[in-house]
Amino acid sequence: MNVVNPVPASQRDAFDEEALRIARVETASLKAPTIRAHRLSNTHISHKAIVLVRITLANGVVGYGEGSSLGGPRWAEESPESIRSCIHTYLAPVLLGRSANRFEALALAMSKAASRNTAAKAAIESALYDAVGRSLELPATQLLGGRIHDSFEVIWALASGDVDQEIDEARAKFAAREHRRFKVKIGLSDPRSEVARLSRLVEALPGCEVIVDVNQGWTVAQCNRWIPALEEIGIALIEQPVAARDRINLARITARSRVPVMIDEGAFDVGDVAEAGAAAAGTVLSLKLVKSGGLMEMKRAAGVAAAHGMELYGGCLLESGIGAAAHLAVFSTLPALHWGTEHFGPRILTRDLISQGLSFRDFHITCPTGPGLGVSVDEDYIAEVADGAWRPAAA
Ligand SMILES: [Mg+2]
Repeated sequence: MNVVNPVPASQRDAFDEEALRIARVETASLKAPTIRAHRLSNTHISHKAIVLVRITLANGVVGYGEGSSLGGPRWAEESPESIRSCIHTYLAPVLLGRSANRFEALALAMSKAASRNTAAKAAIESALYDAVGRSLELPATQLLGGRIHDSFEVIWALASGDVDQEIDEARAKFAAREHRRFKVKIGLSDPRSEVARLSRLVEALPGCEVIVDVNQGWTVAQCNRWIPALEEIGIALIEQPVAARDRINLARITARSRVPVMIDEGAFDVGDVAEAGAAAAGTVLSLKLVKSGGLMEMKRAAGVAAAHGMELYGGCLLESGIGAAAHLAVFSTLPALHWGTEHFGPRILTRDLISQGLSFRDFHITCPTGPGLGVSVDEDYIAEVADGAWRPAAA
């Protein structure tokens, strides 16, 4: 093993840091089939492209992380190709040989090696928490402050674009006590027809709550015209109605709307969250590892948002059970996650990448409790859907 940065004996922690040195960083690219097409305002997917990171420590323990993107570089700048290339070319070389438990130091090294590239960094940090947690036989939550919550209300997204199909799908989920809060993707077509579709949905789903994600699809004029209609039909939350860069107008829209407004694409790092909070651009923040670039940084984003009086929502980018577990590790340590989470990603895949660790019951997703991320990764299935074998990064 290539020891790049040996820790002097006087600075070693009580446990064996040598055993926790990062011996190998590997990535794999997968195309996991989904149970149905998923439409957003600017893309449409029928399989989920996932980059996985596998980190092996000197003690032989392995940890996994997931780098998520949606429809290539559409939801944000990163694509499966760029995530892998960033890890192999820039991130792995500054990590190999260092002790995996030095989370803060490794995050700093990654931020010096690459700006932004948050999905790539988040995938690595998830794998570090998984590997170190497994080595120390502690859940990642224990390394993040300890668990407060055991489960969260879990939202399901209706995104086929066909209202009759969506009503059937939502009724089945509600009857099975799986979901009673539904997120609908809008901003795809004429707002008048979308509001009519939402009105039908809300009426057809008594006892349920409907929230909408416009995915930056509306102009300010459309917001002024149509948000009162969303309020009228009883929509519970409106996500990112205008362009990500337009925080000034998001603040105006938030001030006018009686329905809470959530910022998503408009706030990535803690600086963005502080600016959005100070400007009151949204009263709710969607937390995502792909925006924060790591577990600690997402926890800090939650703290900054809460300090500005914002409510928190557990966002996703359709991660598999591996990525969902990394999010839940952080969410479960937050004082409050007011809106629960939308980590339904494992169930939109025809088969998850984990064989156990997560469960969905009674409208909730249960947080894993085992060492590391607490999930059992299904290497056989990964091999089936991977585009080639695991590729190791060179030191
Ligand atoms: Mg969103």
